[in-house]
Amino acid sequence: MAVINAPRGTRDILPAESWKWAYIVKTASEVMRDFGFREIHLPVFEHTELFSRGVGETTDIVEKEMYTFTDRGGRSITLRPEATAGVMRCALENNLCAQGASAKLWNWGPMFRHERPQKGRYRQFCQIDAECLGLAGPMADVEVIALSLELFRRLGLKNLEVVINSVGCEKCRPVYRQKLVEYFDAHRDSLCETCLDRLGRNPLRILDCKKEGCGAIAEGAPDIFDSLCDECREHFAQVRAGLERLVFTYRLDKRLVRGLDYYTKTAYEILSGDLGAQNAVAGGGRYDNLSSAIGGAKVPGVGFACGLDRVLLVMEEQGCTFGEAPGVSVYVAALDEDSRGAVQVLTYELRKAGISAECDTAGRSFKAQVKAAGACRFACIIGPEERERNSAAVKDMKDGTQENIPLSEAAKYIREKL
Ligand code: AMP
Repeated sequence: MAVINAPRGTRDILPAESWKWAYIVKTASEVMRDFGFREIHLPVFEHTELFSRGVGETTDIVEKEMYTFTDRGGRSITLRPEATAGVMRCALENNLCAQGASAKLWNWGPMFRHERPQKGRYRQFCQIDAECLGLAGPMADVEVIALSLELFRRLGLKNLEVVINSVGCEKCRPVYRQKLVEYFDAHRDSLCETCLDRLGRNPLRILDCKKEGCGAIAEGAPDIFDSLCDECREHFAQVRAGLERLVFTYRLDKRLVRGLDYYTKTAYEILSGDLGAQNAVAGGGRYDNLSSAIGGAKVPGVGFACGLDRVLLVMEEQGCTFGEAPGVSVYVAALDEDSRGAVQVLTYELRKAGISAECDTAGRSFKAQVKAAGACRFACIIGPEERERNSAAVKDMKDGTQENIPLSEAAKYIREKL
């Protein structure tokens, strides 16, 4: 029988990598705390409707990429392809933004999209997500962008580019949409199959088509800035002014529309120069109509999601550090067979004191145990003499010194030297 492997597009995060994940999440949680965001945990599956109505029927995510199934109760369920719709659902369901209240929430965990796997693109990937709900003004947009950049600054990422755009609102986008339809219709001969299909259904998406022919046509497309209503124009100007006050450099990209329908006004991405084709480490924007799209009261929002898998790739590429690598502080070795019991007790006592400790449980020789101790900061050795004196020989592997320490004081002695 063939061995069963993990499904295509998924991967195991092994110990050699998992501590780096933990470091990124810990750093994120500190930044979130400093910016006043509070952590939530959400289900990884939701009613399919949440995404079809929230993210948008004509988006790639909903049309092609969702893991949807009918559960045993006959309901259509979808593994979440992104976090924002779920966060908004949670806020509405739990009345977090009732009577004009606002909520700054963050969460992290796996997302699922049936995409073609490649470097930095997986079918199960992890996102760190922050959402600022109930706040309509441009200051909130600036705060969210600043939050994502601060996360990357603390992680030590270099060579990043912030790209921003405004995608308008329900008042001005239809006007712009019409202008685009007319423009692209006049160039339909140069559009790819997918974009021809998008023309009638979601013409804005033609703007970010990666195909060369469509790209060239999109370059000459009408500029969204010329179609923005006064409110969107002013909002965008305030966002830009805010970014400039915080001395962030950014690039305007009128072709940045992002793949989700719920965006209004600000859309942004953070790109890495060290990632190849899948170069976005984070993306986000404002979504003032999402709550009504999923059947709730009007709650404006702005947020971002960052791809943990990709951030890790860039950090490795750029030689960033991940805090202290995990390791065992103490190895407790038994000089003879009769000392194995005492070794086990001391190991347990050290662990109880919060000191990471290891001992042999495989019946290996003293020589093999000493070899294993080489990777630790301290080696504690117990033999007949030590047992007699209720002590252990504690060797500091850093400076080579060795002392005989009573067992009852070993944890304190080591703790002070660690
Ligand atoms: P999106 O929800 O599409 O705006 O994506 C936000 C961020 O999630 C992106 O900037 C990526 O860093 C990450 N991301 C999105 N899709 C994938 C994927 N299939 N595999 C890995 N990371 C992804």
